Amino acid sequence: MPKKFMLILSFLCLSSVLLSFTSTKQKILKTIIIDAGHGRQPNGGYDGAKGSYSFEDEICFDVTQELVKLINKEFPEIKVIQTRETRNIVALHERARIANRNHGDLFISIHVNAAPPVQHKEFIGNKAVVSYTGKGKSRKKVTKQVPQYRYYSTPNPAKGTETYIWGAHKNEDKEIAMRENAPMLAEDNYKDNYGELDPNSPEFIALSLIKTKQFFKRSATLAGMVEEQFGKVGRTSRGQKQRQVGIWVLQATAMPSVLVETGYITNKAEEDYLNSRSGQQEIARCIKDAVRDYVNWLQKQQTLPVVKNKKTEAVKFEETYQFLEAIEERHKHNHATTR
Ligand SMILES: [Zn+2]
Repeated sequence: MPKKFMLILSFLCLSSVLLSFTSTKQKILKTIIIDAGHGRQPNGGYDGAKGSYSFEDEICFDVTQELVKLINKEFPEIKVIQTRETRNIVALHERARIANRNHGDLFISIHVNAAPPVQHKEFIGNKAVVSYTGKGKSRKKVTKQVPQYRYYSTPNPAKGTETYIWGAHKNEDKEIAMRENAPMLAEDNYKDNYGELDPNSPEFIALSLIKTKQFFKRSATLAGMVEEQFGKVGRTSRGQKQRQVGIWVLQATAMPSVLVETGYITNKAEEDYLNSRSGQQEIARCIKDAVRDYVNWLQKQQTLPVVKNKKTEAVKFEETYQFLEAIEERHKHNHATTR
């Protein structure tokens, strides 16, 4: 059988797997992983950003506790797992492991932003500097005016919230994470229906590609909703962004994932807000409301009538074909690199 035909066949089988995968309503969001950024180091030091009197590590933890409380109250059916249950630091790879091992459906990381002080250079006047040129009789006194400057820094006025998702160019890393965590992408009865799961099979690669695309869309949607909620309570929303560097944990978790920068610890007013009980509760409420919007959006997505007409079929075929091309490309690439 030609390879492409086999791939199309497996894709069709897969589509039915995916359909059954998303058909039950209560499966929409079973487990949320809440990740309080940073944490106290064994030597007592801190790992995150520093304000004039407070530390990111502690704020992340406090906001997380409020958020967990609110989600438990509003969504008792959702299981909430924390990657760091104490004020102590947890290694990044361990955070990803906790998220993947617990089969999270959503990963929310809580952080606090910082901006470097603004450097200033101020002209404070000229200073006469005397020097001599030449030797003997031709020796001359030269007076030069040299401008003088004062150098100083002031706190960065940057303020507001940002919610990050992994950069699109990191989709491949995300997909690898999904294949490494293969069992969680499959249904509970996958093994009975389809046998042992092989993460390197064309079927599974196709599944992880589709899931990567889906998770990217879901992450971006949730990130937008978080920022919308911040905007509603009058925070300065700097918007939903893709992180170009760092934030490894966002692509190491095999689920939709966002990172919320809840405000600037380097801005005096925001530092006070971030450390206040009411500020922490407001931040937690915004994120919880965004989770509610996200759950509603997911439900709507899954109950949308499937419009069947020639145009959508054509679009579907085109998308399928692009996936298959991508899979073939990857196979070629894998062969090339394993040799
Ligand atoms: Zn941070």
